Amino acid sequence: MGHPAVLSVDLECFSHLPAYRGARGRLDDPDVGLSTVDGLLDRFGAHGASSTFFVVSGIAERHPELVARIAEAGHEVASHTRRHVHLSSVSSAERREELARSRETLERTAGVDVAGFRAPSFDVPSGPEHFAALDAAGYGYDSSVVPCRSIPGWYGGEYTQRRPCRADRLVDGAPASVAELPVAVMPGLRLPLSGTWLRFFGVRYAIAGMRLLARRGIVPVLYVHPWEFVDLPAVDGVPRRVYWRTGAWMRRTLERLLEQPFAFVTARSALRGVTDA
Ligand SMILES: [Zn+2]
Repeated sequence: MGHPAVLSVDLECFSHLPAYRGARGRLDDPDVGLSTVDGLLDRFGAHGASSTFFVVSGIAERHPELVARIAEAGHEVASHTRRHVHLSSVSSAERREELARSRETLERTAGVDVAGFRAPSFDVPSGPEHFAALDAAGYGYDSSVVPCRSIPGWYGGEYTQRRPCRADRLVDGAPASVAELPVAVMPGLRLPLSGTWLRFFGVRYAIAGMRLLARRGIVPVLYVHPWEFVDLPAVDGVPRRVYWRTGAWMRRTLERLLEQPFAFVTARSALRGVTDA
C-alpha cells in the first residue's frame, strides 16, 4: 500500500463557474459536466480508489440519484455549498444558509453523514467566522485552505499551513472541533498541484509534487472537476484558459494519477486523529 493521497472531486457544472456566469454566451444544457460522473466512479472503482465528492447541493436537489450512486460506490459525500457562490460576496446570513441547507440536502439524498466542506474558488472570509459557521452547521472539517503564494486575481498568500490541523491552530478564535485539510501546493514554488495548474504545468508536475509532499509525511490533496473531462462547448466570453487541456487530456491525466503508487483515500480518513470529531 502506498502513501495516502486524496484525489477529490468538486462536483459542479460548467454553468456554476464564475467565468461562465460572467460570460455573454449561454449553454442550452445547464448540466454540462454531470455526464462524466459515472465515468469517474468507474475509473476510481477500477483502481480501487476512494474519493471525496464536494457536491454543489443544488445538483443533488435536481439529481438525487446521482449523489446516491456516489455514496453507494463507497465514496465520501461532502458539501461545495448550495449554489456555488463566493462566500465572501454574500451576507453572513446567506453564508450560514449555504452551509446548513447544503449539508441537509446532501445527507438526505446520499443517506450518509456529511462532515466535509469546500468553498467555491477556495474563497472564505478571513477570521474565525467561517469555521464557527461550519461548526454550527454540524460540519467536522473544511478543505478550503490553499497554502500557496499570493496569485493576483485568484487567491493565496494568507496561509502557510500545509498539514492537516485543528482550525484553532490556523485561525485565532476558531473552534477546536473543526479540522482543516489544506489543498496541496508544490513545495518551494508554492503553486497548487491541481486545478488550472495541473492543466498548465502537466501531470508530471503534479506527480512530482505529490512525491515531494509524501516524502515530507504530508498527504497530498488534489481536486478535479467533472466538467474538465468533457469536450466542452464553446461559450462566448469564457476565457480560453478555462478550456485549456480539458477533455481527452484530462481523461488521460486521471489515469496517470490513479496509476501512481499512492493509496487514494477520502478526505475524512486523511484527517483521522486531527480532531476528536
Ligand atoms: Zn467549485
